[in-house]
Parts: sequence; C-alpha cells; structure tokens
Amino acid sequence: MLLHFVQGLYIVAGVLFILSLAGLSKQDTARMGNVAGMVGMVLALGATITHSLWLSSQDPTGRRSVLVTLLLILLVLAIGASIGIPIARKVEMTQMPELIAMLHSFVGMAAVLVGFNSFSEGGDAVHLVEVALGVFIGAYTFTGSIVAYLKLSAKMKSAPLTLPGRNMLNLGAFVVFFVLMVWFVVVGKTPSGLGWALILVIAALAFALGFHMVAAIGGGDMPVVVSMLNSYSGWAAAAAGFMLGNNLLIITGSLVGSSGAILSFIMCRAMNRSFVSVILGGFGSEGGTVLTSAAVEGEHHEIDAASTAQLLWDASSVIITPGYGMAVAKAQYPVADLTARLRAHGVDVKFGVHPVAGRLPGHMNVLLAEAKVPYDIVLEMDEINPDFAHTDVVLVIGANDTVNPAALDDPGSPIAGMPVLEVWNAKQVVVFKRSMATGYAGVQNPLFFKENTAMLFGDAKTRVDDIIAALPAAEPAATGARTAS
Ligand code: NDP
Repeated sequence: MLLHFVQGLYIVAGVLFILSLAGLSKQDTARMGNVAGMVGMVLALGATITHSLWLSSQDPTGRRSVLVTLLLILLVLAIGASIGIPIARKVEMTQMPELIAMLHSFVGMAAVLVGFNSFSEGGDAVHLVEVALGVFIGAYTFTGSIVAYLKLSAKMKSAPLTLPGRNMLNLGAFVVFFVLMVWFVVVGKTPSGLGWALILVIAALAFALGFHMVAAIGGGDMPVVVSMLNSYSGWAAAAAGFMLGNNLLIITGSLVGSSGAILSFIMCRAMNRSFVSVILGGFGSEGGTVLTSAAVEGEHHEIDAASTAQLLWDASSVIITPGYGMAVAKAQYPVADLTARLRAHGVDVKFGVHPVAGRLPGHMNVLLAEAKVPYDIVLEMDEINPDFAHTDVVLVIGANDTVNPAALDDPGSPIAGMPVLEVWNAKQVVVFKRSMATGYAGVQNPLFFKENTAMLFGDAKTRVDDIIAALPAAEPAATGARTAS
C-alpha cells in the first residue's frame, strides 16, 4: 500500500518536473515553472524519506532503526542546506556557470558512490552493466566538472591542454573501459576482490578521462562544456536510478540529460561551433586574443552622455541590445529606468537579446526580468533583426561579439557564420564600453568604425545614469504625450 503511494507521488513529481521545464522555457511562465519544480522536489524528497523510514521499520533483522535512519537523513539535509543556502545567496549571476559546474561534480560523485554501494549487494549481468556505466559516467562528470569549475573561476589556466595524440588517448580509454566492463560483468555476480579491483580501475580511468577531456577544452568553450556536463550528470543520475530501482531518479535524470544535451546543441549553433569540435577540444584562447583575418582600420566617433540623451529624447524608436558588459556593470537597473522614462515620453523602446549574449544562455533575460523590464518588449534575435532598418537609435550596452558585422561579412573571422544582431542597419548606433578592447572571442569589431556608430566610453552603469540625469524633466501630467522638439 505504502509502496503504491510512494510510486504515485513519484509520478506526480515527475509530471511537475516536466511542467517545470515547460514553464521555464518562457519568461512569463518561468516563475510558475520554478514553483512546479520546487513542489515536485518536496514531494520527491517526502516520498523517498517516507519510503526509507518504512524500509527501516520492516527490517526483519532489526539492524536498521527508524530513529537512526531519520537522524542520518536529517543530518545530510542539514549539511547540504548549510553549505548550499549561503552559496546560493551570495553567488553573482556572472558566477552562475562555475556554481553549476561545482554542483554537477556532486551529482557525479553521488553516482560513483551509489555504484559502489549497489555492487556491494551483488546482482545479475544487467545490474552490473548499470553499475559500470553509472560509475564511469559519474566519475567522468566529477573530475570534468571540477576542471570546468577551476577554469571558469580562473583557478586553473584556461588554455587548452593539448597532449600529443590526445584523441587517440581518449579513444583508447573508451576501448579499455569497454573491455573492463565486459570482464566486470563476467566476474562480478558476487562481489569479490577481482570485481572490486575492476570497478575501482573503471572509476580511476573515468576520473582521468574526465580530467583530460575537459582540460583539453579552452576557456572559450567552457560554458558549452558546463551544459554538456549538466547533461552527463543527468545520465549519471538516471544510471543511479536504474541501480537503485528508483523510477523518479530515472525520469529526472533523463530530463536533465536530454535538456542539457539540447541546450549544448543550441549554444553551439548560436556560436557557430560544432558540438564534436567542442567536445574534442583544443579551441579557445586565454582571455580571447585570437587575431582577425582582416585587420580593422578606421576612425571611431565619440559621443557624450548629454548628446545621447538628446538623441534618445528626439527618437521615435529605440532598440537596446545588452551584452556581457551590462552584467559586469550591473547596469540593468538604470537601463530599466531609462526605458521607463523614454516610454513615458512616447518612444517605442524594445530590447534585442542574442542567444549567447553574456556568459550563459538566458543571462540577459534574467537580468532584465530582475530589473522589471516588461517581458513583451524583450525580443529574440530572429524577431528583432528585421526591425533595425526602421529604428532611429540602437544602444549597444556592453555587447560586442553579438553585434559584430564581421561574423557575416568576413569569412576569415573566427566568428564567421555566427548569427548576430544586425544593429548597424539602424539610423544611429551608440556603443557603450570602456575602451576599444575586443570582446570574448578576441576579434575586433568593424561596427565601431561605421559612419552611423558613435562610442560612449565609460562604465555602462555610470553612463546610463548620466543619460538619465541629462534627460529633460518629465512632462507634467501629459503621460505618453511627446513634446514637439
Ligand atoms: P562580449 O563578451 O563580446 O563583449 C562584452 C563587452 O563589454 C566588452 O567588449 C567590454 O569592452 C564591455 N564591457 C565590459 N565591462 C564593461 C563595463 N563595466 N561597462 C561597459 N562595458 C563593459 O559580449 P557579448 O555579450 O556581446 O558576447 C558574449 C560572448 O560570450 C560571445 O562571444 C559568446 O559566444 C560568448 N559566450 C557566451 C555564452 C552564453 O551562453 N551566453 C557561452 C560561452 C561563450 P571594454 O572592455 O572595452 O569595456
């Protein structure tokens, strides 16, 4: 009876997780998606804890005490919460990829430990395959995620580690794993010294492979790698679900595994990188200093905040394209104020968001939502690109690679073929940045030298504040009406 109830709760939690993913795919339903995920997780934990307590109470040997089980569960919950809550509270949005990488390493290690525990109880051939796969994927995810975390947090050199014959080494490791797994399945039906030795060697091999494969990937591709490790951590959890006979873990692991894989694919497409070349590594330089094939020469024009304020006040349509610099400067709040002021004046203001603007997918959408910019004026790249041609002013706030025309015009550019926001088609473009430095990909941007582009140098937040201060005072009562200028 209780088992049926637990399985029923697992199904409800599984459905809530699917609803959560569906909700998170759109900004206006994201909050609902989050709530669905949280309720699903509470139900899942509640059902699992109840199940473990019931198992303890039914133990015929009397070795498991309900109280000890309960205390152990409470202890691990307390340890997890005391570490997780402070970290989650203080993490900056720009540090999110490294936090996610760190969390994936825990999932990987959990799968390895579940594998060892599951092997200690023995099992048939299918079970042993599950154990070997779970330990292998988990161990790979563990070290791979730690390397990703170290590279993202600049605690390890971001340059790719390019050992000679590295692809053959990787291939060799997979072949050895396969042979070890077959051997393990043949000898491991009852846990023996040889069985333990084999599963430990499988774990050690996967630890080394995870380290090597992720170390071979440059810092430039690290966010894609994090998303890929997210996918692996899902498969590791699904493997743990098979080992434990836990349906919810299988459902959840598969959801994480496939959504991580889809996200990696979307990121690769938006950056015009092939998935295979990312996994095999060797690309990505330290701090992005790749050279362009065609040298960009010319003069740039500068503009000050007061003139930009006047331009905006006189415009009837404005598009803002934010990028990584807006996140660094935390300029989203003044940008939201500026938007509200201009809209109150009757200017049509929209946002154009590139799929890989910032440092993680959806980065800009989260910042704009945090600053309460209305969802309906935030458009995706494909939706907004046709609008630039009939727009008066575009504000490029801390974006660089995502607005680089060389991606379309220069076949020799490292970002050639990457779809970009075609801001240069507008009447006037104002670029907010601190210098003429390159962006993430390390390529110069011909946009800065175009006739209709003006550079507004300085910290993005300070400059947007300056513009707001320079705007004419709000018109009394006549909201929405534009004064003749
Ligand atoms: P970029 O990283 O290309 O450029 C950001 C610009 O912001 C820089 O040129 C910098 O110029 C400027 N900047 C930095 N700090 C400030 C500040 N305080 N005030 C004003 N400007 C500032 O940004 P994009 O968002 O256009 O492009 C994202 C890049 O990241 C792409 O190359 C993408 O492929 C890559 N990427 C994105 C991922 C994602 O999932 N979103 C994942 C992996 C990579 P200056 O120093 O002169 O101020």
